[in-house]
Amino acid sequence: MPELPEVETIRLNLHEHLVGDRILKVTLRRADIVCGDPEDFLAAVGGKRVVGTDRRGKAMWLCLEGDIAVAVHLRMSGRLLLVQSSDELPPHTHMLAELSGGRRLIYVDPRRFGRLELLHLGRFDQSVILRNIGPDALSEDLSAQYLQEAAGAHSVGIKQFLLDQSHLAGIGNIYASEILHRVGLHPATPANRVTTEEMQRIIDATREILEAAIGARGTTLGDSQYQTGLGQSGGYQQCLRVYGKAEENCPVPGCDGVIRRSKIAQRSTYFCPVCQARGRGRRAGR
Ligand SMILES: [Zn+2]
Repeated sequence: MPELPEVETIRLNLHEHLVGDRILKVTLRRADIVCGDPEDFLAAVGGKRVVGTDRRGKAMWLCLEGDIAVAVHLRMSGRLLLVQSSDELPPHTHMLAELSGGRRLIYVDPRRFGRLELLHLGRFDQSVILRNIGPDALSEDLSAQYLQEAAGAHSVGIKQFLLDQSHLAGIGNIYASEILHRVGLHPATPANRVTTEEMQRIIDATREILEAAIGARGTTLGDSQYQTGLGQSGGYQQCLRVYGKAEENCPVPGCDGVIRRSKIAQRSTYFCPVCQARGRGRRAGR
């Protein structure tokens, strides 16, 4: 599932290649991928020029002239691709937009959990896609105090807490494992027992890892559908330290741990039982 670095990579691609183009015509092959009335969507978007892009967490939107925007949440298997008009459409193409630059923007989604939505500027709080999305994981305003207060009422494990998009938006299953390994924190540590200092280290590791992943155009694993907005694979899978590495040696210098895979809240979780030992005595996993 695309997480913040993958969505940001797509947004950057579209920002570079799409801003300034006019959307000549939109075709919906499956109306049920649109939140709200598909007729309203088509009528509002057709003929508009793309003036910008934005993102919060795993949701992104294209800003159009006329104070409207088109939000996209890719969920499990959605792909937003810029293709040539002459290119053959991939299977599961549910939306295509003809652009003035002679290309097409297409939305492809085999599992169809993803959604598109028409947004009106100033009424983002009414959006289905943006509802319950907390501050972005790369927001400069994010503080350890905020996270600790958000965790205050939650005795769930810190990994599950990080996956809850209402507290912090953009982190999914892959990067949560990587972040907690970098910090040296066991994924099942109760969120409300994580110290302010550890929360600060989580914020620092999140920035470091997500920014490196954006630099590598995201993570494309064997079973994932993720492609950049230009149809390329990501490169950060070569930099993963624990995710998908069960039974391999922990890459932390001097650590003799072996990476373990376990299920936490029904999701595969990877960690080193030595440098991410439970409770006291844990040491930084750098
Ligand atoms: Zn280790």
